[in-house]
Amino acid sequence: MEAGEAKSKKAEGPPRLCCICNLRRPVLKRPKTLQQICKECFYEVFEEEIHQVIVKNHLFKSGERVAIGASGGKDSTVLAYVLSELNRRHSYGLDLFLLSIDEGITGYRDDSLETVKRNEVQYGLPLQIVSYKDLYGWTMDEIVKMIGLKNNCTFCGVFRRQALDRGAALLKVDKLVTGHNADDIAETVLLNILRGDIARLSRCTSITTGEDGPIPRCKPFKYTYEKEIVMYAYFKKLDYFSTECIYSPNAYRGFAREFIKDLERLRPKAILDIIKSGEDFRIATTTKMPEQGTCERCGYISSQKWCKACVLLEGLNRGLPKMGIGRSRAGDVNGDHRNNNKETKSGPSVKSIESRKQCGSLDF
Ligand code: SF4
Repeated sequence: MEAGEAKSKKAEGPPRLCCICNLRRPVLKRPKTLQQICKECFYEVFEEEIHQVIVKNHLFKSGERVAIGASGGKDSTVLAYVLSELNRRHSYGLDLFLLSIDEGITGYRDDSLETVKRNEVQYGLPLQIVSYKDLYGWTMDEIVKMIGLKNNCTFCGVFRRQALDRGAALLKVDKLVTGHNADDIAETVLLNILRGDIARLSRCTSITTGEDGPIPRCKPFKYTYEKEIVMYAYFKKLDYFSTECIYSPNAYRGFAREFIKDLERLRPKAILDIIKSGEDFRIATTTKMPEQGTCERCGYISSQKWCKACVLLEGLNRGLPKMGIGRSRAGDVNGDHRNNNKETKSGPSVKSIESRKQCGSLDF
């Protein structure tokens, strides 16, 4: 060996090792902590953190039937995989199911549902698919043809919320889990502040919601970073679908998403800090909150005479699709203006729907 070569080898020093096990070569820098770690340790910390969130927050009870909202996207695919693993490893005693919604979007949902059907076989989880066409008589393709691309996500978001509850009822599950991750929740906190949507702000950081409704919903990925979910799916070679919805607009949420990503680049902990801030908000007792009732038409939970889905559907069926759309309080067919800016059990208001997760990466 030449003297110069030996010197340069010496300057490089011994190969750096994973900062957790100190045995293997690191293959990634963990986005949440910036630690250089190996693949095996990454799997372990990723799964263990989710297990701890489940245990500390008492998300499940043994014997429960749990539906996983499955879109075929990365979040819900990783959720289905990890939850099946943890259920076996830690004997949670859960009966797990996949629940998918077919909005009727050609070239998007039909393809992503093929992924979910493969996941059904890969993970051995029974799959239930509920379609807008069956429930409401309309596909999103038909709705977009009638209303254009301006308010399509309003219809889609309201219909999806009910469709998930109806699918969960078909499966007779006790709980519904969704793949919303820490980035989504931080984004929603910011959007609810920007919009002054106090009702949603008060509960958007809750790990379980809807306990007083038909089916409680949980978010086991509340503290899981999106980048880590992507890495996990990549290293585990999970089968997921990553194309955006062809009708996805939602620029406002896009700005919030970019802002969060910029903050994360500067300080990864910013995501967790925003969630913590959301958790610590206290809503003034003088703030008027929605009063829960039942939709006179379909019986679904609603704080108004008709639930939002029935209002929107009526508009579609009468050829007046703008009925129930927009912020005009006077335009509310219920004539009840108590809750225009608040998400109700029957479905969210226009304001809150606009701030829903952009479906390009949507995992319900
Ligand atoms: Fe529906 Fe999402 Fe597509 Fe909007 S972006 S139409 S909410 S699937």
